Amino acid sequence: MSDCLFCKINNGEIPAEILYQDDEVSVFRDVSPQAPVHFLVIPKKHISTLNDLQPDDAMVIGKMMLTAKMVASDQGVSESGYRTVMNCNSDGGQTVYHIHLHVLAGRQLEWPPG
Ligand code: AMP
Repeated sequence: MSDCLFCKINNGEIPAEILYQDDEVSVFRDVSPQAPVHFLVIPKKHISTLNDLQPDDAMVIGKMMLTAKMVASDQGVSESGYRTVMNCNSDGGQTVYHIHLHVLAGRQLEWPPG
């Protein structure tokens, strides 16, 4: 999608600190980290919100989780632990309308979130 920030990161139009990339997903550090380790896993395909997921997207959603696990390991936080979050729409706190999995780690995270 031409006016989507994360599509522009996917195609290199906007720079980001890329941690991993393949044909299906990109992983980059969040520009405003909420924990010592905070990265985002996004699909190459533009999907605006979780509400827009279709049955055909099951593989890419699974790929996003497996990629989160792999990059968490690369970042050395597998054993200490991490949190994955996907916000949906306004009440969920979504601000960028291209789905993304937050991965936060490196400090004790509180529950429930505020
Ligand atoms: P959300 O509020 O769940 O939609 O999360 C969007 C996230 O994208 C926020 O944590 C932002 O800090 C992050 N973000 C926005 N612009 C950029 C960017 N150019 N590069 C990296 N992360 C970004």
